Parts: sequence; C-alpha cells; structure tokens
Amino acid sequence: MKNRTPLEEQLIAEIKADGPVSVEQFMTSCLGDPKHGYYMGKDPFGRGGDFTTAPEISQMFGEAIGVWFATAWQMMGSPKKVNLVELGPGRGTLMADMLRAVNVLPEFAEAIEVHMVDMSPALRKIQGETLKGVPVDVHWHQRFEQVPGGPTLIVANEFFDALAMKQIVRAGDGWHERVVELDDDGELVLGLADKAVPNADVPFWARGADEGAIAEIAPQRLAVAEQIGAHLARHGGAALVIDYGHALSFVGDTFQAVHKHKFVDVLHRPGQSDLTSHVDFEALGEGFVAGGAVVHGPRTQQAFLIAMGLREREAMLKKKAPARARIMLSRQAERLVSDKQMGHLFKVMAVTDKSLGKPHPFGEPVHD
Ligand code: SAH
Repeated sequence: MKNRTPLEEQLIAEIKADGPVSVEQFMTSCLGDPKHGYYMGKDPFGRGGDFTTAPEISQMFGEAIGVWFATAWQMMGSPKKVNLVELGPGRGTLMADMLRAVNVLPEFAEAIEVHMVDMSPALRKIQGETLKGVPVDVHWHQRFEQVPGGPTLIVANEFFDALAMKQIVRAGDGWHERVVELDDDGELVLGLADKAVPNADVPFWARGADEGAIAEIAPQRLAVAEQIGAHLARHGGAALVIDYGHALSFVGDTFQAVHKHKFVDVLHRPGQSDLTSHVDFEALGEGFVAGGAVVHGPRTQQAFLIAMGLREREAMLKKKAPARARIMLSRQAERLVSDKQMGHLFKVMAVTDKSLGKPHPFGEPVHD
C-alpha cells in the first residue's frame, strides 16, 4: 500500500464522507491544518529544508529594506513611535537584518516597536531565538488584525504566495472550480466541480479564454491586502510587499509544490510539501486600494535592490572580507538580482497612505 502522509489520510476520509474539496480548501489544509499543516511543525527553510528565501541568501536584502523603511519613516514626519510589522517572518532573519541596518538613523531605531505576525507556533519560537537581544520591544500575533493602531510600517516577503488561492477552469459549458477528489483507487486526483461558476464570478481578464484555460483568484490574499490598506489609511504609514509573481493579471496555472528544493506534483505528500502560487500584483493592488491606500509599482526585485544601493553595499562588505567571502558575496548578490534567478520573477510593491507621496525608487519611469 502507498505510504500516505497523515494529512493525506485525513483528506481522503473527508472527501469520502463529504465529496471533493476545492483547490483553495486543499491548499488551506496543507499549509495551515493545526496538526499536520506544512508550516505548523517544522523549519522549512535553508539547505536542510525545502526552499531558501532572499533573507536567508544574504544580509544585504534585509539591509536594503531597512534603509527603505528609514526613508519611509522620515516621509511620515518621523513619528516618535512606530509599529514595524512583519507578516510571515519565517526564521526572523529579515527583521534581524533590518534592525541592524536602521541603526544608521538612531531616532528611527528608538521609535520602533516590532510586531511579528505568524500563524505557526514553531516558527514564532525560532523567531524569538533569532531576535533575542535586539534593543527594541517585540510582540507576536497570529493575525494582522491583532496589530495595534498608530503609525505603521509593514513588510511581507514571500508571505502572500503562501496564502491559499482558488483555480477555475474553462470547460465546454463555462467555468468550473478546480477540486481535489478521489480516483477509482481511492487516491487524490485533481478534477472539476460539477456546478459551473456564475458568470459574475469570472474575472474580466479571463473571459474569452480557450477551453482548458485556468484562472487563479485569491480572496484570502485580497482580504489581507484590504485590511492592510485600511490600517494604513487610518493610522498612516507604508508597506513593502516582495514576492514572486506578475505585474498584470493573466490566465495560467502557477500552482506549485516544492519538496527538498525540487518541484514536485501539487498532490505529492500533502502537508509535507510547500504549496504556493504566483502573486497577481494587479489584483493585490486592487485590494490595497479598496482598503483606502495608494499603490506604487511593482518594480522588479532587481530594479528595487540596485536602486537601494545593493552594489555599493556589496563593494563595502567585500573590502573587509577575505577572498573566499568575496566570492560568496558576489554569488549572493547575483542570486538576488540576476535575470535568471530572483531578479525578474520577484516583484516589489509599495503601499502608502494617501498623504505620503511616492517613495524612492517608485517615482522614476519604469524600465524593468
Ligand atoms: N518571510 C520569510 C518566510 C516566508 S514563508 C522569509 O522570507 O524567509 C511564509 C511565512 O508565512 C511562514 O513564516 C508562515 O508560517 C507564515 N504564514 C503562512 N500563512 C500564514 C497566515 N495565514 N497567517 C500568518 N502567517 C502565515
């Protein structure tokens, strides 16, 4: 018999009893099931894990972002107290690097109160260890709504891709939601819901697509974007969202699973593979705007990091480094900005309250 994961057993039993589950429900369970969800039990990052994120590649990433927030804080009128919020902080590496970088502006460093938002108890614990000894107060929350009011700065790196999305598929008689059901052997398989999706729920950019086309819609992501937009509109501040995805909505299947640094089938080892999809920045932007905020960009990660002085920082670190470390620094910078690696696939979007103006480097004409 097939060696199934505990979550797979649980899902098979649920589908047997109640019928197919949507891709959105499947993704929600695989990532966030309180007992068997992907993020609940373990540390998925780095060599021994499944994937490596930008802050885990190099300190230069968090430093550039820390400098961006120092400027945003000055644009806000340098408030005496500011919430620095991170959504989905993983190991806490990005926050640690940002806090080191903001020491260039001591008044900003002193104003910061950190709020880490993460649903995973295991990762919150690791974040606590990473941030042990930082000279600011750190609070933890499970959801963004729990962050208190007041001027706020928010960073989210590879957070939105980890929120579940739904897929709809164009069939002969209209669009149907994509589901996970059971094949004749009782194993999980992708399929289509019997009932068609009402026309009004098909996004305008997907209408007219050919049979077999897949469109992705992410109400959970939009809901968080709207909350962030509303928080910034009410309390003032700025957010920076970094993720892999596309600047404009388009028709296509980006649902993906990663296990031990390899792409695998999306149904492979449920609860033990990382499930994500690309972020639709056009749709996400509409969420921030619906909440009452203003959106800038997105720009590519390459354009953003280079404009924030990544090359200068690399040169400075190299001056003090032995030969081997210099080679490492070159490799790290290439991974972050080159076209073939993260430079183009990853986008950076800024969100601000209406009073703030356009932050650097979102003002220049875009040639990304
Ligand atoms: N930002 C980190 C980690 C990205 S992985 C980095 O760049 O290394 C996604 C992170 O989001 C994890 O910390 C995970 O626990 C958290 N997360 C996923 N879904 C969440 C949700 N619905 N609410 C809060 N945190 C969530």
